[in-house]
Amino acid sequence: MVTIWQHVPTLSTTRHERAKKVLSNAKLRLLRPKQCLYLSQTQRTFITRAKLAAMFRHTKAVLEKLRHVRLKCRQLPQRQRSTAAKEKALHYNAGQQIHSFTVKEVVAVPDLFLTAVKLTHDKTGAQYLHAARDDPNNLFSVQFRTTPMDSTGVPHILEHTVLCGSKKYPCRDPFFKMLNRSLSTFMNAFTASDYTMYPFSTQNEKDFQNLLSVYLDAVFFPCLREQDFWQEGWRLENENPTDASSPLVFKGVVFNEMKGAFSDNESVYGQHLQNKLYPDHTYSVVSGGEPLAIPDLTWEQLKQFHATHYHPSNARFFTYGDLPLEQHLKQIDVEALSKFDRIDPNTQIPPQPHWTSPREDHVTCSPDPMAPDPSRQNTLCVSYMLGDITDTFEAFTLSLLSSLMTSGPNAPFYKALIEPKIGTDFSSVVGYDGSTKEASFSIGLQGMAEADSEKVKNIIHQTICDIVLKGFEDERIEALLHKLEIQMKHQSTNFGLSLASYIASLWNHDGDPVELLQINNSVTKFRQALKENPRFLQDKVQHYFKENTHRLTLSMSPDDSYLENQARAEKEKLQEKISALSDGDKKEIYEKGLQLLDAQSKTQDASCLPALKVSDIAPTIPITPVLMSSAEGVPVQFCEQPTNGLVYFRAMCSLNTLPEDLKLYVPLFCSVVTKMGCGSLDYRQQAQQMELRTGGMSVSPQVISDCSSLEMFEQVSALQALNLTICDVYTACLSKGVLLSSSCLDRNVPHMFQLWRDIFNSPHFDDEERLRVLVMMSAQELSNGISYSGHMYAVTRASRHLTPAGDLHETFDGMEQVRFMKRIAEMSDLTQVIRMLPRIKKHVLNPDNMRCAINATPQQVSESAAHVESFMKDVAAKRKHFKAVRPNIIQRPLDVLSDSGPSRKLVNDPDFQPCYMKTFFQLPFPVNFVSESVRTVPYNHEHYASLCVLARMMTAKFLHGEIREKGGAYGGGAKMGGGVFSFYSYRDPNSVQTLSAFRRGVEWAKLGQFSQQDIDEAKLSVFSSVDSPVAPSSKGLSVFLSGLTDEMKQRHRERLFAVTHANLLDAAERYLCAGHKTCGVAILGPENDCIKKDPSWVVK
Ligand SMILES: [Zn+2]
Repeated sequence: MVTIWQHVPTLSTTRHERAKKVLSNAKLRLLRPKQCLYLSQTQRTFITRAKLAAMFRHTKAVLEKLRHVRLKCRQLPQRQRSTAAKEKALHYNAGQQIHSFTVKEVVAVPDLFLTAVKLTHDKTGAQYLHAARDDPNNLFSVQFRTTPMDSTGVPHILEHTVLCGSKKYPCRDPFFKMLNRSLSTFMNAFTASDYTMYPFSTQNEKDFQNLLSVYLDAVFFPCLREQDFWQEGWRLENENPTDASSPLVFKGVVFNEMKGAFSDNESVYGQHLQNKLYPDHTYSVVSGGEPLAIPDLTWEQLKQFHATHYHPSNARFFTYGDLPLEQHLKQIDVEALSKFDRIDPNTQIPPQPHWTSPREDHVTCSPDPMAPDPSRQNTLCVSYMLGDITDTFEAFTLSLLSSLMTSGPNAPFYKALIEPKIGTDFSSVVGYDGSTKEASFSIGLQGMAEADSEKVKNIIHQTICDIVLKGFEDERIEALLHKLEIQMKHQSTNFGLSLASYIASLWNHDGDPVELLQINNSVTKFRQALKENPRFLQDKVQHYFKENTHRLTLSMSPDDSYLENQARAEKEKLQEKISALSDGDKKEIYEKGLQLLDAQSKTQDASCLPALKVSDIAPTIPITPVLMSSAEGVPVQFCEQPTNGLVYFRAMCSLNTLPEDLKLYVPLFCSVVTKMGCGSLDYRQQAQQMELRTGGMSVSPQVISDCSSLEMFEQVSALQALNLTICDVYTACLSKGVLLSSSCLDRNVPHMFQLWRDIFNSPHFDDEERLRVLVMMSAQELSNGISYSGHMYAVTRASRHLTPAGDLHETFDGMEQVRFMKRIAEMSDLTQVIRMLPRIKKHVLNPDNMRCAINATPQQVSESAAHVESFMKDVAAKRKHFKAVRPNIIQRPLDVLSDSGPSRKLVNDPDFQPCYMKTFFQLPFPVNFVSESVRTVPYNHEHYASLCVLARMMTAKFLHGEIREKGGAYGGGAKMGGGVFSFYSYRDPNSVQTLSAFRRGVEWAKLGQFSQQDIDEAKLSVFSSVDSPVAPSSKGLSVFLSGLTDEMKQRHRERLFAVTHANLLDAAERYLCAGHKTCGVAILGPENDCIKKDPSWVVK
């Protein structure tokens, strides 16, 4: 039920990222400061394990020296920083006054390696929390309690509009302009059900001050011009604004964004559930805006809402990182807070009165053509209202309890609801949700038949009774606490942001955020409670579930006329508005439309905004030292990192020997191979062991294009730990295979390898019932993901015929895979599929086709090396040799400095013929996802950097204005990756018109009417992603995965700096112009007459 609308869509690159995002909504991710070792690449040597430890010591000593040399000659813009921000913060005292704030509390939180300082602003009562931590990725966030009482979307439209210009920064759209004037690692704004939050993060001190100034002015002194309201909220306008006779239609960014959000059945269901479970106050309305209610909002109401809600007395400030607190306080007081007096914001949410008897309700949604079984598209779930989330320990207990009840194949609800295959998966809303004042717990199914409703209700009731009776096994409770320990130790790259969202809801209702951070206190208290009362958890289940009368059973079924009804209702609303207009009004609308178009088309003066300069960017990258070794002939890469006591193991398995007919099955193989049991463990025991001993074990398909040639790629499959970011991979080269990943606490390394050993040597594939459950869940997840990542499916499809890598990408991750999984899920007999799995296993889990990587602390590296070696010895005993099916295999050394060392095998496809193809997927969405992809050059090519800068510049200076501002889409732009330049739009009311916007973008670029400032801004924007922080667990991965070395990155970096006006013109002319380019086009969207009539389109 976490319904949050964000200002800029997070454009995830793959469906795996979507799954990760869903996970991270609920969980806390942790991070320790990164320590960049300036070690030299030349020190990388190919050695045996025995020499490893000594080697590292030696390397470090040599490079200690080198570091100083480097720093001297490079003059890196280094900031003088205290190495112990958290220690320094401990010196503050309660009662101390700092820049008009008073310190209330100072607390060391050793679990998270930080010191929390709580303050209040004397004059306004604004609340402040600072988390001092030795992490350079500093974060700022300000949140307001926003409690709308209607569904016009006023907090959401306000969130958009305040970012359109402010007193000190009156230019249009400073938010989007700052994206290109800063090295921010994160910028966005969120509207939740009861708060609105504005966070940013950056590693650069000057940048922090710049962004803080822009954010403060935006939220406290926005212009809120009528024109901004029209553009971002809603307006009536001629369909073609320059043609007064064209029909009037609704337009507006939020209007379209919400139409898109309401096309996603999962969000629709979550929204209804929340509205109906808390029917008496702000949770009964849609804070993002219901498409048909949005046109009831007036500009006056918007300004009023700002005056009453965006006030310091209703604000909570959060800062995080290693920058000094005093500077933040001073700037916030001087630039904003000192200009206000205290008010009583009166925004508290009253408790939801408890129902005396349970309720039932029903809603409808649009049918899903990609759903595995069209006759089973119902959702049913029971939602229970729990206690107030400000009771930290109770909330902690209930969220643990929720995991015990629902998560993994050993959970009672998994056994009772998922395994009998009554539905395809749990309902989209499942488990504990603490995003409202009173928490909730939900349990139910999606993808079920309507006839099974009573059965499902009975099972839910019966399961709760069983839990009250039997409780949980101790080992499962231990496994869960172990998981929590790993989560606290695992370091993510955006820890500040995770903290901000972790504390947001509780703090919003005046709970104590510091108490929430002291997770170990809760763990201790929890263990104590269990000891004192063995029925502690059962009593909770009795109280909160069995005896709880405040529960809602909500069912949802598809309605064939759903979209039609919605379209009709929109038409009626439109007619109602139009019929109230006089001729004079219509004339005014036309003129206002022209004015807006005029304002949007004007070259804008952004000189009032602060900006970093290209010279503020570090000229060189810190080198990540890795060491190559081998175990039983299998290459092993070691990367010493401050991983906080965790060991990360990955293996890349090439698919070069895999027969063609098995290719489509690879993603399925990956998703089931760690979930069906292995060795002496059945799948339940295996899941239990993984939870008890590891931070997760996973396998995922990979396609990685080569850095040097678009015809070459590697096919790999990877064993991999959870929580990975391998962003580099998508921008560089191509190979195919599977990536295996896992992580564990250092004490569990032998257990982790034992599990992999069993998976390699004796995986279980023969349990058809288990496979069916996994297939159904996977097909359902793919189908649900389309409306969320539609632009990625469009880009993938458009790139399909451009490179061999693109083709494989479509097979593994595109619409072809979605349809394939749908077919498998519909099969009544899976024996044929089961026969494929061991065949794939023979090729994939084969030491001949493998390479491994370990990231760990120096102490753990040599110990892990011993375990890798013995693991390899055990699996190599069963090694088989296969001939590559592809005739053209090229070997590339893994260590660039040693040609004789181990290599990766790339597939070369010199006969590949790129071709032009336009594909349309008709889907039941009210909005489109449009993409055009153009074949360009690989990473190592001299023009690659120009194309990267060009993509950013076209996005910021042309496409954003055309596609989002004028076109009304939620997002749109261009990006460069894997040798392909792609245009895309996200949740777009237009389809083929957007293709012409892409073309106009190219014309615009060719005209060359952009300034040096525009180029510099585009470079800043490219560098803010090139230099985005990499977690210790992922350091050294780009060279491991794709052979992308630090030298290549440095050369690319130098080329980026060197890009000139002439280079950009040349790149646009050479690669993007009609006649010169090889491109592909794809659109996902609703029925489209224009495309139907045009025979050049392939309609799917
Ligand atoms: Zn929005």
